[in-house]
Amino acid sequence: MKVDFYSFDFRQSLKDRLLKAFEEFFNSNSYILGSAVQLFENQYANYCGVRHAIGVSNGLDALHLSLESLGVGEGDEVIVPANTFIATVLAITYTGARPVFVEPKIDTYNINPNGILDKINDRTRVIIPVHLYGQACEMKEILDISSKYGIHIIEDNAQSQGAEWNGRRTGSFGICNATSFYPAKNLGALGDAGAITTDSDSISRKLRSLRNYGSAVKYINSMVGYNHRLDECQAVFLSIFLEYLDDWNSSRQDAARMYIEGLKDIDEIVLPTIAEGCTSVYHLFVIRCNQRDSLQEYLKNRGISTLVHYPIPAHLQNCYRQLGYKKGAFPITELISNTCLSLPLYPGISPKSIEFVVGSIKDFYTRISS
Ligand SMILES: *Cc1c(COP(=O)(O)O)cnc(C)c1O
Repeated sequence: MKVDFYSFDFRQSLKDRLLKAFEEFFNSNSYILGSAVQLFENQYANYCGVRHAIGVSNGLDALHLSLESLGVGEGDEVIVPANTFIATVLAITYTGARPVFVEPKIDTYNINPNGILDKINDRTRVIIPVHLYGQACEMKEILDISSKYGIHIIEDNAQSQGAEWNGRRTGSFGICNATSFYPAKNLGALGDAGAITTDSDSISRKLRSLRNYGSAVKYINSMVGYNHRLDECQAVFLSIFLEYLDDWNSSRQDAARMYIEGLKDIDEIVLPTIAEGCTSVYHLFVIRCNQRDSLQEYLKNRGISTLVHYPIPAHLQNCYRQLGYKKGAFPITELISNTCLSLPLYPGISPKSIEFVVGSIKDFYTRISS
């Protein structure tokens, strides 16, 4: 048996509808910032429970523009979890600001609010909570810190479209919030795409300019902007996919429940913990385990693909050596890097596949203990 890490087969049944939509798009002769982008922006803003969504080119650009819209730049500090995907950190350093890393909680893998308090000073401008692996951050303390110290929140919602804290969807907590529609995200396009969600009319206006050369009126440039637009064609597809997001997320949650049930008695494994008041849409199903690399190799030999998210944290990447961190600087982050393993999970993954993965993990630990 072969179990892929991810499969797009669950979209197969939409093929005819997508082709028909593509044909309409093709015939529209409107290929940049047309009615499809506008429609999707309204639908996605609605979904997140905010007034505006601004479609952009990808998640990294969404983060970068969010920071720029708040005027973050040289001399500023931005608080970010140490255990995030590199893009969160790249967006910060693009602006000239310094990323200030905070350790996650070891049970949820999301940023530890106590760690945030320790890092706040006069230069702190923004906190970027990342809803990692699909689980919403516990927002209460972060929101309290934000209002007490006057520091903005920008969510990195790339992995968690549809997750909730306190019954409210992610993408609605910060002054503006970035997300990615990279194909394998929970809401994935057929190429690169992203968005920023915000309740603020003025920030929305600014972001619309920033993504389009810094221009609100054609050939009138009020700021130095970018070409970071959402592609019209991707917007066409995203509107269709958005209708299915909740179903796909439920399917991911079902798969996660099966994994948890199957793996709960294995002592060598730590299963995901979902915090009180939070939900996870299981962008990834991440366990921590003894002898991670041997387990991964064993599963690979059985035809099961797994991945590590993420093998080298940002503070230990070569590109950030000038930040001056050494191994051991963020021990919880490094522990997660060294022990985490993401198991195959995607909407519609078969119970048979999950049973095979579970059985193989059991076999591995039985074998090495005997
Ligand atoms: C995928 C991802 C991004 C970047 O999104 P792209 O669309 O690939 O640029 C940023 N942050 C996190 C947490 C991600 O998972």
